[in-house]
Amino acid sequence: MPNLNFHPAGHHYLQIPGPSPVPDRILRAISYPTIDHRGPEFGELGRKVLADIGKIFKTGQPVVIYPASGTGAWEAALSNTMGKGDTVLMYETGHFASLWKKMAERLGLVPEFLGMPGIEGWRRGVQADKIEARLRQDKEHVIKAVCVVHNETSTGVTSDIAAVRRAIDAAGHPALLLVDTISGLGSVDYRHDEWGVDVTISGSQKGLMLPPGISFNAVSTKALEASKHASMGRAFWAWDEIIEMNKTGYWPYTPNTNLLYGLSESLDMLLEEGLDNIFARHERLAEACRAAVRAWGLEIQCVEDGRHSPVLTGVMMPEGVDADQVRKLIYENFNMSLGTGLGKLKGLMFRIGHLGDTNDLALIATLGGCQMGLRMSGVKLKGDGVAAAMDRLQATAKPQARYPKGSNS
Ligand code: PLP
Repeated sequence: MPNLNFHPAGHHYLQIPGPSPVPDRILRAISYPTIDHRGPEFGELGRKVLADIGKIFKTGQPVVIYPASGTGAWEAALSNTMGKGDTVLMYETGHFASLWKKMAERLGLVPEFLGMPGIEGWRRGVQADKIEARLRQDKEHVIKAVCVVHNETSTGVTSDIAAVRRAIDAAGHPALLLVDTISGLGSVDYRHDEWGVDVTISGSQKGLMLPPGISFNAVSTKALEASKHASMGRAFWAWDEIIEMNKTGYWPYTPNTNLLYGLSESLDMLLEEGLDNIFARHERLAEACRAAVRAWGLEIQCVEDGRHSPVLTGVMMPEGVDADQVRKLIYENFNMSLGTGLGKLKGLMFRIGHLGDTNDLALIATLGGCQMGLRMSGVKLKGDGVAAAMDRLQATAKPQARYPKGSNS
């Protein structure tokens, strides 16, 4: 058995943009005894989580829950709706959009990748007009799906999904709209039905505050219809059998019982706090974080106004500073994990996660660790970022709401 008790005194600051810290309330729920997944109590649990999860996606249509990481739910979305050789229009917002494209290739699809050269497209959201222009050219309707990432976890940019829907409609194109909100759901406003999304993909380990291990497909009627004719092979991921059995609260295979206890608790917590309050909390913390980065005189990875992610902030390093060395120093000295730069951004930036079960003082501690680490790494900071964030939080502070079941952690 490896020694997992390797952290020094005090709690570890897990400030990566997912997995996010799991509140005690959820950890306790996960520790309930594992029950018979064909017994009566399980059916009750299944029906409850399946009813409540739709409220988070804002959908009245089926949500399929898989015992898999988010990558599995990506594959499920493509394999249920597409056939080998189909063209899909994907948009390069960052590393995760690129990984999804790679998966599409491996599945035998033909992805077209829109975007901008170098890292320019990795600093902005999806440009819906580019999607509209490409769809207008596709008179034969060769493109079967438009695939976009809502909250690009590798960059800290949130895209406008309603604008993508409008672009598809303006072009009069029948392509399905597939959206990855793995790191957006439960932290950033998301509306599966209202935005006309056909498949929404999400995961447990970010805004839902659960450990990794479950993922989701929210599915529209149009996507379900497409799945009846989609020719790509699928078995484990197939929606039809799962949706049929879910009607009674069960799954066709052994579901992730203990993580579903956790999901039930997570959904209670999210609904008790209220989605609008949660979105406002994330937005406020993200603004304070950006105030700190600006006060340091460092660049924020996202350069497009209004598209900054409420979930994480990407911090660019000055020339010659290796972001991973800064992260390593902070980890070793201050017991805090920050997100690494991924893909094209390796070494150029680090990511501060401020999502899920978090609050003002957690952010101030995080920024304190960053500020000390940056100084120790020889980065010349223009000003006091922690003070700037505190000013921002203090100016917008209000008494904390207390929820019926007590403290959230
Ligand atoms: N998409 C996004 C936006 C992500 O942030 C992640 C993981 O962080 C994934 C996809 C892949 O999900 P997983 O690592 O759970 O398989």
